[in-house]
Formats: sequence, C-alpha cells, structure tokens
Amino acid sequence: NAAIVGGGTGFIGRALGRQLLRNGYEVKNVSRMPGPYNIGWEELKLSGLPAGTTAVVSMAGQNILDPKRRWTPGFKQNVWNSRVNTTRSLAEAIVAAPKKPKVFVSISGVGIYPPSSSAEYTEDSPVAPTDYLSELAIAWEEAAKLPPDSGVRQVIIRSGVVLGRAGGMIQQLFLPFFFGVGGPIASGNQYMPWIYIDDIAKLIHFAIENEKVSGVLNGVAPQVITNKEFATAFGKAMWRPALLPVPKFALDVAFGDERAKIMTDGQKVIPKRVLEYGFKYDYPDIDKACVKCARLFNDY
Ligand code: NDP
Repeated sequence: NAAIVGGGTGFIGRALGRQLLRNGYEVKNVSRMPGPYNIGWEELKLSGLPAGTTAVVSMAGQNILDPKRRWTPGFKQNVWNSRVNTTRSLAEAIVAAPKKPKVFVSISGVGIYPPSSSAEYTEDSPVAPTDYLSELAIAWEEAAKLPPDSGVRQVIIRSGVVLGRAGGMIQQLFLPFFFGVGGPIASGNQYMPWIYIDDIAKLIHFAIENEKVSGVLNGVAPQVITNKEFATAFGKAMWRPALLPVPKFALDVAFGDERAKIMTDGQKVIPKRVLEYGFKYDYPDIDKACVKCARLFNDY
C-alpha cells in the first residue's frame, strides 16, 4: 500500500505518517519543501499521482491561528487557497490517474457548523455558509468532491481541535499554563469539540482501511466538553491553577473577531457515524488526553 498525503509534513500529517508506516504503508507527502519523502505541488500537477498510490489524503493548510500573522485580506486568501486549492489539486490528480487509488480522505473542520450553545450537530445536520469559517469549510469539502463515477471511495473528516504536545492549540497554551496563567477563554461556556492527536491519525487510517466507510465523519471525541472543562483538565494535568480567563475582547483585538471565533465560540458536535462504524478511541476522555499533552517530553 502507498499513500500520498497533502500537508503530511504538518502536526497531524506527521502522526498519520507514523501510523501508516507502522501499518506497512509507503508514505509520500505533497509539500512546498523538497525532501526525500516529498513531492511538490507542481510535480503533482505535471506528473500526476505516483504509480502504485492506493490512498490519497488531503490535509494541507496555512495555520489559521498563527499569532504572528494579522487577519488581513491577503492572509485570509492564503488560509483559503492553502486548503481549497491543494485539495482540488489532489482531487484533479485522482481524476486524471490512469490507475485510480482506492480511497480519498480529505480533512475539513467542525467550523462548518454554526456556533451555538443549544444545537447538537451530527454528520447528518444540514450545513450552510453563515460566516467565514463555514464558507471556507464548505468550499474545502466541495473542492474534494470526486465525480460520482470515479470509482474511488471518498471520506471527509470534519476535525475538532486536535490536542497533542507538538502542535496545534496545546503548543500555544503550554507556556501560559506552565507559568500558571492559563485559563478558560472568554466565559468558557462555549463547547470545545476536540480529539487527541493519536485518535485523529487512527481515524484517518481506519477510514483508509475500512471499505465500508464513506461520506462525512465528525472527527471529534465522543465526550462533549466546554472550553472551561478543557482548561480545568489541562490545568490539573499540568499541576497548575487554570483560573485566569482570557478575555474575549483581547482575542478579538489580537486575532480579529472573525477568526477569534474559533476560540471564543463553539459547537456541540457528536461523532455519530464514527461510533456507528465501530471506531474505538484510545483517548475518549479529556483527562487522559490532557495528561499526555502535559508531558514535557513526548514522542509528539
Ligand atoms: P499544520 O499547521 O501543521 O500544517 C499542515 C501542512 O500544511 C504544513 O506542514 C504545510 O506543509 C502545509 N501548508 C501550510 N501552509 C501552506 C500554504 N500556504 N500552502 C500550501 N500548504 C501549506 O496543520 P495541522 O497538521 O495542524 O492540520 C492539518 C489540517 O487539518 C489543516 O488543513 C487544518 O486546517 C486542519 N485542521 C486542524 C485542526 C487542528 O487542531 N490542528 C483542527 C481542524 C482542522 P509544507 O510546509 O510541507 O508545504
């Protein structure tokens, strides 16, 4: 088996790479950087999928919460193109391939569901463009769509916040919590759909291997928590208080309110189809995940 992973050099991509290698896959990334295990986006366009590719995964994307980047129209375009165009390039390469891979797994986000303190979303919930994040996720999933007669099984994973020591949100929160100044964001009452890094890598592998799986999956843990409950669990795992709230206005000013919404708002997301398929989580509860995230030295 051989997998091609767009954005495979990233936080989730590295975890997926290890999961696939352990299971006997050859893995190549599509990357902007040269490297022994990388192919370039231009090369993908010109030469197509490498011969023998059995699985294609799309997970490239400019880090939307990069605190060093201001939320300018240029950066927004970058965030958009780095997801939508890369995903489209992979879909086009699949359509053009003389010998098709078996499966195309594409990542998207729970931001496709409108933030709400009362609604409960499963994979069957209707989606509509209501804000920048939902517009982006809809365009991203649209770019992944293969023609119905492509003969390639297709899975879209709407990921929650991925928790792990080496990237994403935990990397940004580790120091404030370490110094005892961590805490909930805004009121802390907003839901925080989350999944531990090992579980998202395992879920993508499950989607690749399991021929019955197709369509949309909510890539979130079954335990629904609020941001405050996360802060408490992470504080406990770090042996630190987690009392100092981060005020909403500070995030709105620092990040721009359109993207600060990722942290200040949330949605209750249920992995209904994931559970129906019988997927087993290694980290179904937040305390266990946070203990792993709090280790100073972790494998990732
Ligand atoms: P990373 O920030 O680690 O980045 C993934 C890869 O995307 C990078 O290694 C990079 O590959 C590629 N990339 C970055 N910027 C660009 C760009 N401007 N153009 C093309 N490629 C680019 O992301 P994660 O691993 O955390 O996430 C992977 C995907 O999952 C992303 O699309 C993200 O939106 C989505 N997701 C992540 C969540 C999380 O909590 N981490 C939650 C929900 C969704 P290279 O440098 O090799 O080109």
